[in-house]
Amino acid sequence: MKVGVLALQGASARHVDMLARAGAAPVEVRTPADLDAVDAIVLPGGESTTISMLLESSGLADRLAARLADGMPAFGTCAGMILLGREVLDGRPDQRCFGAVDVTVRRNAFGRQVDSFEADLPVEGLAGGPVHAVFIRAPVVEAVGPEVEVLATVDGRPVLCRQGPVLVAAFHPELGDDPRLHELFLSEVV
Ligand code: GLN
Repeated sequence: MKVGVLALQGASARHVDMLARAGAAPVEVRTPADLDAVDAIVLPGGESTTISMLLESSGLADRLAARLADGMPAFGTCAGMILLGREVLDGRPDQRCFGAVDVTVRRNAFGRQVDSFEADLPVEGLAGGPVHAVFIRAPVVEAVGPEVEVLATVDGRPVLCRQGPVLVAAFHPELGDDPRLHELFLSEVV
């Protein structure tokens, strides 16, 4: 099972480390040929507007849209969650989102005062206690479709969601020392 990590911009390196720890064979994805060679993909945090532009200029955007529409498993974190959602609010008008999970996501939604924060999140169905989650200018999920499972919330707002083989987190599970969410993703891939 080859798992790709989109490596155009943002926090890809720690995802590669986590996936390797969780038992996968991670490879960085920068070109359509790289994408063709993987069975699943992680879209990291970073700046969703920039990643969206780079997806277009690298020729990856349409290929990625087609793979996701075909049911390729995907794990999007922070900016990656924005890209995998169905609708983005407070985005740039030309920023792309792929609709792999039926969520409406608002960028930078926790506001300036709490730009970045950490929280211990109980995750539905995850053994071993809460996940220590780092939020960095995080998006929030404002609406979820009927097929979406909400696995964790902050102040009643969804921050970890799953729809079929697609997992999205508003935070950065690749930071810190806890591979359980990467393992959860891989358990859906295999
Ligand atoms: N604020 C960023 C965006 O809108 C996401 C931040 C992150 O990925 N840490 O894309």
